[in-house]
Amino acid sequence: MRHVDALVVGSGAGGATTAATLAAAGVQTLVLEEGPDVGPGTFRQFSQDQMRAQYRNRGQLVALGLPPITYAEGRCVGGSTEINSGLYHRPSQALLEGWTRGWSVVDLTSEGMGPISDAIEHNLNVSTFPDRVPTASAFLASGAQRLGWFSTEVPRWFDHATGRRQSMTLTYLAYARERGAQIVSGAWVRRLEIDRGRAVAAEVEHSDGRVERIGFDVVFVCGGAVQSAALLLRSGVRRNVGRTLSMHPTVKAVAFSDLIGSDPSDVPVTQVREFAPDMTIGGSATDAPLLALALLPTAVGVDRVLDFGPDAGIYYAAIRSSGRGRIRVVRGMRDPLVTFRLPTDDFARLQSAMGRLLMVLLAAGSEQVVASVHGGQPISSDAQIPAEVTRMTRRAADLMTVHVCSSVPMGEDREICAVDSHGASHEVAGVIVNDASIVNGAPGINPQGTVMALAIRNAEHFLTQRGVHPAAREFA
Ligand SMILES: Cc1cc2nc3c(=O)[nH]c(=O)nc-3n(C[C@H](O)[C@H](O)[C@H](O)COP(=O)(O)OP(=O)(O)OC[C@H]3O[C@@H](n4cnc5c(N)ncnc54)[C@H](O)[C@@H]3O)c2cc1C
Repeated sequence: MRHVDALVVGSGAGGATTAATLAAAGVQTLVLEEGPDVGPGTFRQFSQDQMRAQYRNRGQLVALGLPPITYAEGRCVGGSTEINSGLYHRPSQALLEGWTRGWSVVDLTSEGMGPISDAIEHNLNVSTFPDRVPTASAFLASGAQRLGWFSTEVPRWFDHATGRRQSMTLTYLAYARERGAQIVSGAWVRRLEIDRGRAVAAEVEHSDGRVERIGFDVVFVCGGAVQSAALLLRSGVRRNVGRTLSMHPTVKAVAFSDLIGSDPSDVPVTQVREFAPDMTIGGSATDAPLLALALLPTAVGVDRVLDFGPDAGIYYAAIRSSGRGRIRVVRGMRDPLVTFRLPTDDFARLQSAMGRLLMVLLAAGSEQVVASVHGGQPISSDAQIPAEVTRMTRRAADLMTVHVCSSVPMGEDREICAVDSHGASHEVAGVIVNDASIVNGAPGINPQGTVMALAIRNAEHFLTQRGVHPAAREFA
């Protein structure tokens, strides 16, 4: 049986930063990634080809409930960072304090996290557009301005000279490789073997059908909020695992206006944050297939989708939900069963979010706006908004999310937490969970910056506990 010092399961935001931190400090590190190694820039961002190659289940995943909520995850080297929009926020002090109070998380302050975020921002070239934002962003900003709502350009991990988003394959994974980490794609960790309370080996299924056992001193579980919980459950690690899945449920609407000028390969970068962190309005990628998905439930339908060009834009409103989801593993099935219960108050907030979304898109100058709900009608005046909001019942709503987290909560309170303040399992030695699973509750911001900062903090804590000095955080 092959043996490594540190095994990292998953190569997304959590796994890539963990591997880079460990490898740079001289720890022998093996990263196992279930998905393929596609390489950045192979497919147009948000295209169907990319969905087939780099999304889990070609982008078709659902959390069952009333309403069901579709969600998306990456499944490739680099994880969801290869397919996402690149919008960056650093975790706020209020967020960190909330976790400290609510979950007894220790040693989590903005003074401690600030320098880690500084390094991430440097390494990913987090920046705003050098000149002005694209038209589809300016469109949303103009609507907000007319209503007197605060909106802002959200910076992104982006190299404006090359036009490339700075995903994990271009940054932390490349850095980890240079420092000796091995990254193996097409390698699914079926389960962890536990011997007398300590995780000792992983059972790995390779894409060519080979099954291998790999021993380790420590495993960092970084498969994303749904898959990390599922892996722990398959391995018999159950206490407080998979019971507190959180998310940002999201509604969409399609706006039609010559002013939008959608770019199918990019997303708007403006967010209306007047109602943040509980409610955020922004823009989504828009091309014919995505437009078809947004219009499918509506009265407009998809027959004329190919007639629409850059004058159509998909926009969204997301809320921070206090609802909780569950992840269950089902014997004989590879995919876990995911459910989510949306509380009544949250559903009312989603209706109000839809109302505000329609309002800002009309204020921006849309000729027509269509709420993406079953039977949604095109509207052109504020007076028609209440009817569309009322139309959005639990059965008519069409909800989605791209932000899932919190399935393996961290903190010192063992009654509610699965891992300690630095991600180490309360139940089994040798397991550290280091991805979106430990982000305690929907953060109300785009989460990747928080996931990365926590992962680096925890990997450094692991090193210093063993007397190893972490390397400089900033890439040379
Ligand atoms: C379409 C989309 C848009 C988004 N936009 C933004 C944005 O603009 N800004 C932002 O901050 N966040 C955004 N996000 C969210 C952000 O990408 C995630 O919060 C972040 O990537 C989570 O990191 P993670 O390490 O937990 O999981 P991921 O990055 O998803 O990585 C997990 C990896 O682990 C692999 N894996 C899972 N299980 C196993 C196993 N058993 N064995 C081996 N490998 C396994 C998966 O295949 C995957 O590659 C977006 C997400 C999506 C899907």
